[in-house]
Amino acid sequence: MESCIFCKIIKGEIPAAKVYDGSKFIAFLDISPANKGHTLIIPKRHYVSLEEMPDGDGKEFGELQVKLGKAVMKATNAEGFNLLLNNGKAAGQEVMHAHIHIQPRFSSDDFHYKWTHKKYDDGEMQRMQEKIKQFL
Ligand code: AMP
Ligand code: ZN
Repeated sequence: MESCIFCKIIKGEIPAAKVYDGSKFIAFLDISPANKGHTLIIPKRHYVSLEEMPDGDGKEFGELQVKLGKAVMKATNAEGFNLLLNNGKAAGQEVMHAHIHIQPRFSSDDFHYKWTHKKYDDGEMQRMQEKIKQFL
């Protein structure tokens, strides 16, 4: 993808503070971090969202999240971390090359994930449960 900023990072056309470079994924520091040490993991192959992730790549992707999450925590002395994946525009994705954020967190930091909690009507939760299971 010619115009994709993350593809340019993969090709070395623009700089990035890389912390991991594997056969299928790379990881680098987010340029505008939520907290210092905020890291992004991206696939080397250009695709927009997880629905397009090739079969079998999810295993390495999941393992990297754990490995890098631990490394980021140690490097930043964080008390925890958030994994955030904005999958699709409606979910807040701005760079349209799939990526997951590892955000080191401190009890004293200044940001919060907030959403209004919805309520299920009678029987709706069970219907949703069955519907999701159907698609697995
Ligand atoms: P999202 O809203 O999930 O699409 O997040 C995109 C993230 O990419 C943001 O947190 C940006 O700060 C980050 N970002 C954009 N351009 C760069 C870049 N050149 N190097 C590192 N991070 C970047
Ligand atoms: Zn790309």
